[in-house]
Amino acid sequence: MINTIVIAGGTHGNERTGVSLVEKWKAHPECYNTLCKSATVDVVLANPEAVRLNRRYCDHDLNRAFAQTCLDMSVEPAQYEFRRARELNKIYGPKGENTRTDLILDVHNTGSNMGYCLILSTRDPFTMKASAVLTQEFEDAWIYYQPEERSASPYFGTVAKADVCIEIGPQQHGTLNAAIFERSEKLVKRYLELAEEWNRGELQKRAPIKVEVYTQLRDLGYPKPQGGGAIQAMIHPELDGHDYRELRQGDKLFRTFDGKDILFDGEPDGRSVYPIFINEPAYYEKDIAMSLTVKTVEEW
Ligand SMILES: [Zn+2]
Repeated sequence: MINTIVIAGGTHGNERTGVSLVEKWKAHPECYNTLCKSATVDVVLANPEAVRLNRRYCDHDLNRAFAQTCLDMSVEPAQYEFRRARELNKIYGPKGENTRTDLILDVHNTGSNMGYCLILSTRDPFTMKASAVLTQEFEDAWIYYQPEERSASPYFGTVAKADVCIEIGPQQHGTLNAAIFERSEKLVKRYLELAEEWNRGELQKRAPIKVEVYTQLRDLGYPKPQGGGAIQAMIHPELDGHDYRELRQGDKLFRTFDGKDILFDGEPDGRSVYPIFINEPAYYEKDIAMSLTVKTVEEW
């Protein structure tokens, strides 16, 4: 039974689809409060200070501040986001088995060409089934599975028992796109309706759905000189924008500033990989040029 649901936006202050969705729903609860009557649904602007600045964060990435060790620090943290993470954990957690929140839907944007990327951090039966249904209803919805030990995971969603981080793109950070906003609102509403269906015991009875699951393998950084320094190459133009497409050994990966191609070496075990988050602007500071995933076909 899903009793408590939190819809979050503005976990990153310049990812404006979620920001505007939350602001709209706060002003007009009738937009969502009849969709899942069997649960308490709350909406929250996760990082209001960063939203005000139209920036990803003020002092530290809020969506990297929810590891149990961060939440448990004995001294009051100086950085705004660590304090905000504790506050959110107090309201919606506490993170762990006794959390008061069953489900968090956290709405993000990406500059990468990823469509509606539904990120699952656990193999939770509701989020799997609902997300599978949404891949049938939205032709550009994808499933990305990012398994992590939950207490060590730094994401806001991990304060709840289960979560979906909805990454929507391509959208420039700091801006809005009307078509994307409207489809995103529709998608979040569908999760609420499907939660209602789940609570009635009906969603579970739907026939298994065949889904492609992209599972995190490793992140790939930009080429840099040994010992660090500025990046030495850009995402190759033949790769840019082609998230979820197989990257084979010998494929063009980067282009140096003097026009040389850097090719992909392939995985040591020869397995096929599928890059996502290609050229995500927010990941330049994290030195992630893309995330490599492996693809499986499963029945959910
Ligand atoms: Zn984000």
